[in-house]
Amino acid sequence: METKYIFITGGVASSLGKGIVSASLGKLLQARGYRITIQKFDPYINIDPGTLNPYEHGECYVTADGMETDLDLGHYERFTGIETTRDNSVTTGRIYLSVIERERRGDYLGKTIQVVPHITDEIKRRILLNASKQPLDFVITEIGGTIGDIESQPFLEAIRQLRWELGPQRALNVHLTYVPYLAAAGELKTKPTQTSVKQLQGLGIQPEVLVLRTEHELGDDLRAKVAHFCNVDVSAVIQSQDLPSIYEVPVNMQRQGLDAIILKKMGVEIGETPELGPWRNFLECRKQATEIIDIGLVGKYDLQDAYKSILESLAHAGTYNNRKVRTHFINSEHITRQNVAEQLDGMTGIVICPGFGTRGIEGKILAAEYTRTHDIPTFGICLGMQMMVIEFARNVLGYKDANSTEMDVQTAHNVIDLMEEQKTITQMGGTMRLGAYECQLVENSKVFEAYGDKAIIKERHRHRYEFNNKYREEYEAAAMKCVGINPAADLVEIVEIPILRWYIGTQFHPEYSSTVLHPHPLFMSFIHACISNS
Ligand code: GLN
Repeated sequence: METKYIFITGGVASSLGKGIVSASLGKLLQARGYRITIQKFDPYINIDPGTLNPYEHGECYVTADGMETDLDLGHYERFTGIETTRDNSVTTGRIYLSVIERERRGDYLGKTIQVVPHITDEIKRRILLNASKQPLDFVITEIGGTIGDIESQPFLEAIRQLRWELGPQRALNVHLTYVPYLAAAGELKTKPTQTSVKQLQGLGIQPEVLVLRTEHELGDDLRAKVAHFCNVDVSAVIQSQDLPSIYEVPVNMQRQGLDAIILKKMGVEIGETPELGPWRNFLECRKQATEIIDIGLVGKYDLQDAYKSILESLAHAGTYNNRKVRTHFINSEHITRQNVAEQLDGMTGIVICPGFGTRGIEGKILAAEYTRTHDIPTFGICLGMQMMVIEFARNVLGYKDANSTEMDVQTAHNVIDLMEEQKTITQMGGTMRLGAYECQLVENSKVFEAYGDKAIIKERHRHRYEFNNKYREEYEAAAMKCVGINPAADLVEIVEIPILRWYIGTQFHPEYSSTVLHPHPLFMSFIHACISNS
């Protein structure tokens, strides 16, 4: 089958869940045995989201091949279990950069470079790129932002052209809109959807499928009305009602025939509806897991999306351990020696979160000290691991001024230091140690056991600083063990205090690779330890 392209656009408002709908559709097509990929095209001008403040754009997700991307790629991977790559994340900045670089090289032979055709051609090339590198049946392309945004225009024009060039059997548009409920009138309103579809039609794109986000059940009449006004079949008006979990969306979409309608419209035989057995088992487990376990997240971003993958990884592991994880955000900037006990009170386990810069780090160090001395299961991730290492140096090794050179370049005891390869780097974007690297596990350690006695694992990184090997022997002698080592560069990737219940810090980010059907072994082991502590 020639590759087919599905474009997901959004109208009316942002945050309607385009990423979840894209991931769900990917899941449903994958379950039918199709080879799929999901990619995100973001209209903003940053080259990648790596330099964006999490307050503006949520977590930065990292692919195995080392691309800093939008958090929606995390949803794609968690839903489908298929690894994304740098080709799955494109921004306006990257598009312009490659066109401008080509212009500077003289590739355009004196032509005037314009949005149409040069920018739109580059967008089209990138949309088609994934399928030119591997055999794919469906490429789902989510367009970030909302139609009507000035910066979305070239992307929509590129889609319009591709639909024309590929034809209706190979290119299709799914448009996601919002149906607000006006409490005073007691009515659901379709006008914003009509306007949004008109706007899309004005750009030359007729959506074949509409997904309507709503807080209330949409009746048949309302669906018929939308279909009538928007030139869409009634069966292709799907509702996406608020659900208790994002993981119920695929099942809900399947029930309404989202994938079947798309297959039909693209001329593919529909076949049997997949049962989604393991997925439904997960949902069932989730429903059964009512016993609560309280986990504290010590970090500086008081915002759900900033630690998205960690929250999802905890939820996956909780479900498979028959528990409902209740996370509590504990702002590290507010933790003091006087209130640390109170701040962490009631938590059966603590995650010390990743991050950059000095803000809130002393609170993370205090939390690490408290959990170490009170034997509370603790999981330090990236900066969190570095804070565990610093705390240990200050309070056990006796180096009161121990620090990371990220926080204090003058420190006499730089137990965390800039990596050699980073010392010559001056540019900010995409220059960290990024992507998956091998890590050799020490036998008989907790992590070795957690990974099912695997000697070599591969995990994703995003950092510039590392454990300083000069201090390794001192740590080992004093009970903090280096139990995961990068074999090529001899970098310490995991520390563990074996005499404690569960006190582990990883330089890498395990949260990027936990999926619904394959919860991450370290999160599984951590939750297990938290349960024994509860
Ligand atoms: N700021 C630290 C470093 O660059 C940790 C980064 C992180 O937590 N992702 O090494």
